[in-house]
Amino acid sequence: MKKTVWPNGCRCAAMFTFDLDGDTTWENGARAIPGGEDYIRSRSVGNYGPKRAADMILDMLDRYGVKGTFYVPGLTAERWPEVVKRIAGAGHEIGHHGYAHERFAGKTVEEQIEIIEKSQQIYEDLIGRKAAGFRTPSGDWSPETPKLLWERGFSYSSSMRGDDRPYRTVIDGRETDFIEIPTKWELDDYVEMAYNMYTPTPKGQDRIACYRSVLDNFVREFEGCYRYGLCIAFMMHPQVIGTPGRILILEELLKKITAMEDVWVATGQEVADWYRETAAKEEEQEGKPCICRQ
Ligand SMILES: [Zn+2]
Repeated sequence: MKKTVWPNGCRCAAMFTFDLDGDTTWENGARAIPGGEDYIRSRSVGNYGPKRAADMILDMLDRYGVKGTFYVPGLTAERWPEVVKRIAGAGHEIGHHGYAHERFAGKTVEEQIEIIEKSQQIYEDLIGRKAAGFRTPSGDWSPETPKLLWERGFSYSSSMRGDDRPYRTVIDGRETDFIEIPTKWELDDYVEMAYNMYTPTPKGQDRIACYRSVLDNFVREFEGCYRYGLCIAFMMHPQVIGTPGRILILEELLKKITAMEDVWVATGQEVADWYRETAAKEEEQEGKPCICRQ
């Protein structure tokens, strides 16, 4: 298997990404049930992210000299502006994550454009720049979404699951410079450890996973990524990974990965730019890559 070429001879790339959802997911989930607007405790689970965990994560990233990528719904940015300013001020990337963490699949083109542009304006007003990256919130996007993002100047998305290397997204039947950096469910702390009594999250799971096992899962995924020369995009949520016990999982990962000199730790925008400018050209010289990697 041909290995992707990473900067400075590095064997693989690692991204630490955080979806700072705040209470939007819990608000949306509760809204679907009668009287759900009264579920204040559920929303407080999400609010732990911007209220407490974000600053703890910033300290941890700073300790290991790592720049992360934070995908933030526009509504969360409006509710927690100072937190978002602190994240951006520390040199981390702010990415687009919808406005109210809404599902793009099933929305009209006009509705999607409104959401995309509304949050872009919020980021620009808050931190002086629009987002370059996008992560689809609450499930899937619609067939038009990547084109709408690309037309509005987005550099990349980190939303799909079908590869462990970046690739150029096919839009209107041809490869574009809109880069996809896939992630995986097995890299998602939400899948591993998120828990709420009511509304039940996740449905059917009644125990929180063992932290030692979660760390072991993440480490094994990283070791496989390193062996095969891939790009690993950890998909974490401050309200999940940022509790006093779980943040030690993050610290173990940071400690292990930053100690390896041949691992490129980068933001989503850096990976997308690198892939577009360098690796994609090399692939072109050697023959066109498969266009079916969704
Ligand atoms: Zn999210």
